[in-house]
Parts: sequence; C-alpha cells; structure tokens
Amino acid sequence: MVRHVLLRRKILLSLLAVGIALVILVLRPPALNFAISEVTPTSQPLAGRATPTADDRPVTSTPSTDETSTTPTIHPSVTALPTLAAPTATFIPTIVVTPEIVPTPTPRSADTPFRVGLQAGHWKIAEQPEELKRLRTSTGASVGDRSEAEVNLDIARRVATLLQQVGMVVDVLPATVPPDYDADAFVSIHADGSKNTSARGFKLATPWRTSSASQHLSDALEIEYAEATGLPRDSRITANMRLYYAFNYERYEHTIAKTTPAVIFEIGFLTNTSDRAMINNYAENIAIGIANGIIRYYNEYDPNNGAALLPQEFPLQRPLTNEPLDIHAAPSNDARTIASMAADSRLIPLQENDDWYEVVIQEEWHIIGWVRKDQVTVTIETPTPPPANDP
Ligand SMILES: [Zn+2]
Repeated sequence: MVRHVLLRRKILLSLLAVGIALVILVLRPPALNFAISEVTPTSQPLAGRATPTADDRPVTSTPSTDETSTTPTIHPSVTALPTLAAPTATFIPTIVVTPEIVPTPTPRSADTPFRVGLQAGHWKIAEQPEELKRLRTSTGASVGDRSEAEVNLDIARRVATLLQQVGMVVDVLPATVPPDYDADAFVSIHADGSKNTSARGFKLATPWRTSSASQHLSDALEIEYAEATGLPRDSRITANMRLYYAFNYERYEHTIAKTTPAVIFEIGFLTNTSDRAMINNYAENIAIGIANGIIRYYNEYDPNNGAALLPQEFPLQRPLTNEPLDIHAAPSNDARTIASMAADSRLIPLQENDDWYEVVIQEEWHIIGWVRKDQVTVTIETPTPPPANDP
C-alpha cells in the first residue's frame, strides 16, 4: 500500500515536471537572431557574411614594402564563412541619396528593412550648407593622385553593394548629412593622414555622447575589420572624432538623429606605406571588414531595446574645490594625466565608468579625458554644444 502511494506520488511528480517543461517550451521568447527573410524578400541568410571573390581574395602575403619592421599580415579568414553572391564593384546609382531625400521616420515597424547610412567622408565637401560652411575646404588627407574623398567613396560603394546583397537598405551619403538623418546604423568612412609616416592602423570613435547601441556598433566593426584586414588598431582617438560635425545634433541641422547608432571610422593611414597598400590593393577586404561589422551588429542587437539608442546625458560639472583638477587618460588614478583644469572650468560628462566620468572641458574641446566623480559637482548652467570638427 505504502509502495503504491509512493509510486503514485512519483508518477504525479514526473507528470508535473513534464508539464512544467512543456509550459516553458511554449512560453519561451523567440530567439534574438532572426533570418533576413523576415525583414526582406531576399533569400540570402543574413547570418552569412561577406566573402571576397576569388579574384579579390588576397593571399597571406604582405601587401607592401614597409620601411618599418612591422609587416602587416592579411588574414583572408573571411573565406571560412558562408559565401554570399560574389561582390561586385559595380556602382549602383540608386543607392546614392542627396540631402533632399526625406529621412526615415522613427520608430520603424518590425517589417521595415534594416537601414544603413554610409557616409563617404569629405565627398562633395564644398556643398556643405551655410551652417557648416567653414568645413567647405576640409578636403581631408591626400597622397599622390588619390584624395581621401575618392578613397572613402570607393569603400562606401563597395560596402553598400555587400550590404544590399543581404537585404539591407543602404544610403551612400556625401559630407552633407540630410537633416536629422535616421538609420539603424550610421558609419562615416574616413582615411587618416599624418606627417609621421610610420603612424598607422585603424580606429573608431562613437559620438561625443554615446548610446550603448553606438558602442555596440563600434565594437562589432572593430572585431570584424581587424579580422578581414589584419590592420593594427590605433588607440589615439582624437577629440575631433568624438566631436564630429555629423554627430552634433545639438548644434546643427544636417546631422544624424539623436537615436541613430553611429561611428566614425578611420580605415587606416594613407600616409603610411603598408596601410596605403592595403587600402589601394585590397579595397574589397576593407569593405568586407566594414560590411561584416555591420552584419555582426545586426545579428546581435535587440530591435526592441529602444533605451539602447538613447545617448546618456549628465548635468554640467565643475571642480569641487579651488584646486586645479587632473584629467586622466583612462578611468584610473594610475592613468597618465593629460591636462590640469583650472578651478573655474566647466566639464561636460560624456559617459560614466564606475567612479569616473569621461569629460570634455568646455571651450577646450580638444581635451577629452577622465575625472573622479568625487572631485566634481553639478553646476546649474547650460553646456555649450561643441564646435564642428572634421578629421
Ligand atoms: Zn577624413
């Protein structure tokens, strides 16, 4: 009798467990990664990544005769990935939009294709509107017979071709951004120049006030670009990049929307032999790295997380005491001191990291660094938006 009762209880418990498991299975939220077929009518799976054509695919050799001992290694590791239709360098005129085009409204519905804005840095710079007219002569770096704008446009068009193959809607934008331009990702493509010809590598910067979506986009691009090109990272992010005019929606009309995830991308140095060889000879790899980064972001981001699109904002700060305040290169007491700010200075916090704020010193826009939160206090004044910069 006791055994029967125990047995029956055991059976009941088992049935209960099975029931709970079934309920969990039914109620389980859908997986985050979804196929592109839900977004567009294309049959290409978005999880696939761009792969160079056989002709464009570089071998693992160094592309140049660099005078330094560091030889760039090109990893054709994109070949191991699922293959898309062969990318073509043919320019598709329909992807070029002019500033007159009406920006996409926000928020978009779930069945709207993922939209990407690719800005070819300095392209048609002379057409900057009145509010940005002081940038009309900002033609960027140039080496030999190739201008930076020409390089940037070539890369932007290649990336556009790749992204269109996976069903994304792409706008190739000139230096002038349509007012309040709204997209799911905005990447401004630039190439660096320096008097120091050994300076090399690529770098990315998010807007001065960064959303977690912008940071995510930047991280995804960094991983895929390093893999597709083998180019080294350059850690010297400049204030000019963070304060890029196209991000400065607080001061200008011809900028991205506040909620558009954005990155400014310096693809390498035109003034460095190795970087230039990579950019000139393996442009398709450069483009694949950028396209794969955007696709990685697409595959990882949560379209329902609207909060991720909002940049953090903090009140204006001033030093707590009358002592000059140290600005550090990183959020650590041990980090290098990059500036000392006077007690009457004002600080605009850009982001926080535990006990630290990343700040820009108002009116000294070239200085971006970190201060301890317990060394500053809120001040009731309106921060001045930064000036327009174009690296
Ligand atoms: Zn540039």
